[in-house]
Amino acid sequence: MRRLVPVAAILVLTLAGCRSGAAPSAAPAETAPAETAPAETAPAGTAPTGAPPASAAPAATTRPAPLIALADPRAGRAAGAELGEAAPLPAVRLLELPAPHGPGALPRGTRPPLIFHGPRDDKRVALTFDSNMTDAMLRRLAGRQVRSYANYSVVDELQRTHTPATFFLAGKWVEAYPQLTRRLAADPDFELASHSWAHEGFHAPCYGLGTIARADMAADVERSFQVLARYTDRPTRYFRFPGGCYDQAALDAIAPTGCTAVEYDDVSGDAFGHNPKRIADDTVAQARPGSIVVLHITEANAPATAKALPQIITRLRAGGYQLVTLSALLGR
Ligand SMILES: [Zn+2]
Repeated sequence: MRRLVPVAAILVLTLAGCRSGAAPSAAPAETAPAETAPAETAPAGTAPTGAPPASAAPAATTRPAPLIALADPRAGRAAGAELGEAAPLPAVRLLELPAPHGPGALPRGTRPPLIFHGPRDDKRVALTFDSNMTDAMLRRLAGRQVRSYANYSVVDELQRTHTPATFFLAGKWVEAYPQLTRRLAADPDFELASHSWAHEGFHAPCYGLGTIARADMAADVERSFQVLARYTDRPTRYFRFPGGCYDQAALDAIAPTGCTAVEYDDVSGDAFGHNPKRIADDTVAQARPGSIVVLHITEANAPATAKALPQIITRLRAGGYQLVTLSALLGR
């Protein structure tokens, strides 16, 4: 596992939970703007309600095949596979699915390349925003302990400034916030990518996240891509490990999904960060040609992002950087 966060951030987040925002003991939201409902409602397994955006695939016709057909790795364990050992059964089924397409797509069975940045010879930077949602977070929403894990102000600012961005969305977050997901999918400046389905750690330890069994990894990632496919007809096949935690075995385990794994080289520090200026200073200081910046749209777990973002955008552009989507940065 490679850690790219400052030592202080690691200490804080080891206590608080995932750097990407899943913290069982997270502090409550301190800034909670517009939203009033704790979460949008979307019945699991159904197409999103309401009129889809023009650019989104028609929900009724893009309903994915039942996931149970591919997500039953326990069968492999029952047959004698040990925990942590890749179960052949689901992998084989994944390999039989249609070939993935879109930026980052590779033939199924290909071990994912791991990307930390784009070309260093061009002053372009990709802003990426992670979301996550865990069962513990859903319970806090239901109990009104936090107001929102969706940061609408960040999206407002990106759209106001016509800033391209790439969103790594966890499947459970998507189902909690279908309307915001549709809004992201409808903007041609934005693209959607996977941040797993359940936001569990793919390598232990991982900032207090639970650990997904290796045999379940490919099905989890595949499921997240299938959820995203309900919302966009411009899919990418980029995947970011929850917490940025991975190892070689995890890369092998998700090979059947035919994705590209994307990390980052510019850690904004917005997860659980409360100082907008510090976040902006750190982000700008780390930026180099080709950088991939990691930020969050999980309001309660990243409460200062919206206030830091205008500075980040303004200062990077003033420094001669063009802000682009990940697929544009990577040229695919
Ligand atoms: Zn995360």
